[in-house]
Order: sequence, then C-alpha cells, then structure tokens
Amino acid sequence: MTELRAGEPVRVAGRTVPVIRLLAPNAGPMTGPGTNTYLIGERELALVDPGPAEQAHIEAILTAIGDRPLRWILVTHTHADHSPAALPLARATGAELIGLPAPEGGRHDRSFQPSGSFAHGDSLAGAEFTIELIHTPGHVSNHLCYLLQEEQLLFTGDHILQGTTSVILPPDGDMTDYLRSLHELRAWQLACLAPGHGQLITDPEVAIEALIAHRLRREDKIVRALGAGVEADLESLTLRVYDDVAPHLLPWARLTLEAHLIKLARESRAVQSPTGWKLLP
Ligand SMILES: [Zn+2]
Repeated sequence: MTELRAGEPVRVAGRTVPVIRLLAPNAGPMTGPGTNTYLIGERELALVDPGPAEQAHIEAILTAIGDRPLRWILVTHTHADHSPAALPLARATGAELIGLPAPEGGRHDRSFQPSGSFAHGDSLAGAEFTIELIHTPGHVSNHLCYLLQEEQLLFTGDHILQGTTSVILPPDGDMTDYLRSLHELRAWQLACLAPGHGQLITDPEVAIEALIAHRLRREDKIVRALGAGVEADLESLTLRVYDDVAPHLLPWARLTLEAHLIKLARESRAVQSPTGWKLLP
C-alpha cells in the first residue's frame, strides 16, 4: 500500500488506463489524510475531485497534467474539500465541469457550476476510456460516483470512504437514500473502489456489505437505546449510541443519528416530540 503524502503523484491503479492519485494538503479530523484527487488517462485526461482551492494543490495538479489536454473535471459533490479547485482549474485548462449543482442550504461550495445538465446513467466517452455517472444520494443529495469502465474502478467520493464512515447530513443528506445507494451499487461488477479519502479498496463487495451491516447495527443500537416507551433527546441519545466515537466527532455523529431517526420516523418506527424521540409501539 502506497503511503499517502500530499503533493506527490502516485499511480494507484489501472492495467490499461492509468489512474494517478494526488493527495491534497488538507488533512484533518473530517478529511483524514486529506482529499484524494485522481487523474485518469494517458494522452487525454479526466480529473476526479479537484479538492480545495489551495494554490499548492492546484499547482501540483497542473504539473501532473503537464501539456496534456484535460478534457473533464468530475466532481463527486460540492463539499469544500472536494469541488472548490474545479473553477480555477477549468479556467486554466478549458476542461468541462461534470457534476450536479449544489443543493439549497447546508455547507456547499456554490462556486461549482457544471458545464451542462448531467444525470444518472450518462457516460463520457474519450479516446482511451469511458466513464459512467452513478447517482448515489445519501451523504448529500447531489453525490455522484464515477465508474471507469475499462478498469471497473469506481470513484466513490464521500459515499464510501476507507478508514472511516461517511457523515450523513440531514435534511439534504438522507439515510434511506444512503442505504439504497449502497444496495444499488451491488448491481455493478466492481473491481476496485477509489475513495475521496484514504487508500484504494480492493474488495468492493465485502466493503459494501460491511458498510450496510454497520449502518443497520447502528440503527439497531438506536432502537435498543430508545427502548419501549422511553423518550430521549438527541444529546443523551448521541452519547449512548455513539459511545465508541471520539468526543471531537460527536457533533457529526449527532447529525448522522438524526438521519437515522428521520429514517425510522419515515418507516413509522419512531416519532419526534417537542422534547425528544421515542419508538412507536
Ligand atoms: Zn462530503
């Protein structure tokens, strides 16, 4: 496994179509080692998740591209650690911007404007490779994964991460959608996952099953913590359900807990009252 070091291009995958990873210098509690920017292709390139608009990162990307044409900049979603470098890079290279526009509200990068209207199932056909767009709402509603067909390699953004689990940010982020998006990915024959943060995942089926099981175990823990007839507020429920999470991550855990509770409410299994949440009989 190649060490993750910011600014150094590393070839991480690709038997026929090279895939280079360039780690952005934005390591942190929510970004792990930093955002993975990927460069696809040999003579004509595509870039996945340009990352934050930090000069050092933009320069590292432009150096890795060299004098080759950059045809597409693909954005998995419009969070600040994934899309802000898209606009300056498009201006510098003339590349087309692929992705879904930022939804209303939430913490989104509104500088990102796709070059056209894109949807699930669209594909981008280049001379060396074809990339398919797969809509995977859940983490946020405008999340896309990108499938590099020649390699059966899926760029997963924040839908599937390595070394940690995604935060679901309601109301735009949605646990029902998240689980459905994970289930639907099982229809593709995936050889490898290239996440927005962390190392490549070489056993996609196992990873996806583990992720679904993890969410359902967490949901089960919520149901047990609420018990029959017991009402609990979000604060106390967060501490009980996420007793395995570091304290500085609890505000994010609380948002994901809320996403779980919204899912339970939608399934008529829980209900919110002015003072908290309780299970329905
Ligand atoms: Zn994100």
